[in-house]
Amino acid sequence: MSPKALNLPDVQIPRIVRLKYRPFLDYFKGFEDVEAVRGIFGPQTKAALRRLKVEFFSSKWGYMGVSDEDGHLVVSTHYLRTGNRRDIYLDVVHELVHVRQFKEGKELFPEGFNYPDAPTEIEAYRVCITEGRRLGMTDRELFQYLKVEWMDEKDLRKLAGNVGVKAPPKPRDRRRQ
Ligand SMILES: [Zn+2]
Repeated sequence: MSPKALNLPDVQIPRIVRLKYRPFLDYFKGFEDVEAVRGIFGPQTKAALRRLKVEFFSSKWGYMGVSDEDGHLVVSTHYLRTGNRRDIYLDVVHELVHVRQFKEGKELFPEGFNYPDAPTEIEAYRVCITEGRRLGMTDRELFQYLKVEWMDEKDLRKLAGNVGVKAPPKPRDRRRQ
């Protein structure tokens, strides 16, 4: 890289933008009474959810996540509009595990780990998978739930193995038989 300064056009770019946060409990109601959520935060559940902020964004990409800057929840309005209600519910439970992890000072996107092997992801998936089973979901349904576009088949199967979900036989095997 040349040390010479680039000749940028004369534009204005904001550097510090205030985000719009809303209280989680104003939008996601009743989660404070969910047993799986109480299992995440323990006796601090109500206080933790009362403190939690949510930021909505509009994009067809992405579902929801937790900011690794300050630990608030970010949620796609497109996903809320079009996603499966059960999946959204399980995703909230999953993300709440990340909310607690962030509060504990854990690195949410630890370096050197692939998504299916990241300890923070495995813990979050274990909690929402257990909740999915309690709801009566089968391994096949749970495997479907684990599918996201950023994981290829190999990573998907790896994640399933790491969180105790039985993967269906590989399509290749089925064709040969
Ligand atoms: Zn996660």
